[in-house]
Amino acid sequence: DTTPVTRALLSVSDKTGLIEFARALSKRGIALVSTGGTHKALTEAGLPVTEVSELTRFPEMMDGRVKTLHPAVHGGLLAIRDNPEHQAALAAHGLQAIDLLVVNLYPFEATLAAGRPFDDCVENIDVGGPAMIRAAAKNHADVTVVVDVADYAAILGELKTHDGGIGAATRRRLAQKAFSRTATYDAAIANWFAGEIDADAAPAFRAFGGSLGQSLRYGENPHQAAAFYRSPGIARPGVATARQVQGKALSYNNLNDTDAAYECVAEFDAARTSAVAIIKHANPCGVAEASSLIEAYERALACDPTSAFGGIVALNRTLDADAARKIVEIFTEVIIAPDASEEAMAIVGAKKNLRLLLAGALPDPRAAGETVRTLAGGLLVQGRDNHSVDDMDLRVVTRRQPTPAELADMRFAYRVAKHVKSNAIVYARNGATVGIGAGQMSRVDSSITAARKAAEAAERLGLDASLAKGSVVASDAFFPFADGLLAAAEAGATGVIQPGGSMRDDEVIRAADEAGLAMVFTGIRHFRH
Ligand code: 5GP
Repeated sequence: DTTPVTRALLSVSDKTGLIEFARALSKRGIALVSTGGTHKALTEAGLPVTEVSELTRFPEMMDGRVKTLHPAVHGGLLAIRDNPEHQAALAAHGLQAIDLLVVNLYPFEATLAAGRPFDDCVENIDVGGPAMIRAAAKNHADVTVVVDVADYAAILGELKTHDGGIGAATRRRLAQKAFSRTATYDAAIANWFAGEIDADAAPAFRAFGGSLGQSLRYGENPHQAAAFYRSPGIARPGVATARQVQGKALSYNNLNDTDAAYECVAEFDAARTSAVAIIKHANPCGVAEASSLIEAYERALACDPTSAFGGIVALNRTLDADAARKIVEIFTEVIIAPDASEEAMAIVGAKKNLRLLLAGALPDPRAAGETVRTLAGGLLVQGRDNHSVDDMDLRVVTRRQPTPAELADMRFAYRVAKHVKSNAIVYARNGATVGIGAGQMSRVDSSITAARKAAEAAERLGLDASLAKGSVVASDAFFPFADGLLAAAEAGATGVIQPGGSMRDDEVIRAADEAGLAMVFTGIRHFRH
């Protein structure tokens, strides 16, 4: 399935490797056509080449703005080879088919990067190049399009092995690359333009051309400009698609924390249970499930009421009046739920500043998707952590089997641990967190923090024993040593859930056995940084 190459059009701003490539094409008997500067370079190298103005019977004009925008070029690129009407049209107008297009665009990005003035940037917006690239890529069934100097060698190789033709798979791959190139090019122009229109405007979203949802007053800190963008394509229900029913404008931190809260609470199936997550600085400070939202809220709040002050509250079911009345008792930044009853909305409405977001539905924690973060000069993209403890192959590794209650709490705690920044340690009892240790650089420190929180919570409630007593503990990654595990046992935990997989698993399991713990390995890690 190869198409023969008899005529090539070359129009390149970056002339790297051009002469060698064109010479090799010419040697194969391929006729060369090119635009002004490219033509000059090829002629100087002694290669036979036709100028595109000869094809179009028009001079290049307006400082090169109009060179190839002509039916002689676009007809030659777009004509379908086995379509008699297309072929007749070519013949009727004296046009010739172009089988290979080699274009690299005016260096818009480089002009921008060099900090050139506005007019220079405008002049470096290529018009005819992208038009040709798109035409050739559309007609990839017959035409090969090359937009990257790095592909020259492979093209020559394929022409050699395929006896002067290019295979269908290569044409498709190059067409994809071509569209990707024009998309990136236009995104760079659009982003630059957005910034030029409003110098104070939000930083442009260069990742995947999302649409501006909202300019934000500032970012994580007042000196950082910020905006919120919606991803293109099908959106999962969540913060980006939620309807804000009332309250002050959302800030950058509100949005970030609300997202963390809603993603966390979505782990709990609304058909099975009422769940509430309270979030501060993108970490849960209390999560609970119960038979009603108000009970779940009260239990989530009891975990760490100090931290919950000014937090984000996410619910997995329609916000009802009872829960609303309880939630508005303390200062809360945002409430998010799939929906809210009329009465609940009226109760929240009494707090003018309190933001209420209704997302319509819960996001599916198992859905595919990606997370993006920037690093200096680039992006890191990964698939979402869409693993649910329900699907994991839980393996009891200790002599003692967990009781059904312990096992239920282990699952609960592991669900929460997935949404706690690493190192994550979560104590849970009866479907509620009682101590959370987040974001520490050592797992032992997270264990100590979580245990301390559980002890403090008990003190507040006037209880003698720490809330960790009789709890289970979840760890987002394996315990590298027995110490973290022993700290948990000392705090009163009777069960442990963790991925396992440490070099010292044997030692850790032995310690668990000696402490009389029941321990379960999940085989799946939930790092979150
Ligand atoms: P050359 O150096 O050969 O004169 O010009 C090559 C550059 O011109 C390539 O980057 C190509 O994308 C661009 N180009 C080709 N045709 C047109 C056109 O009709 N208008 C504009 N603005 N650029 C074109």
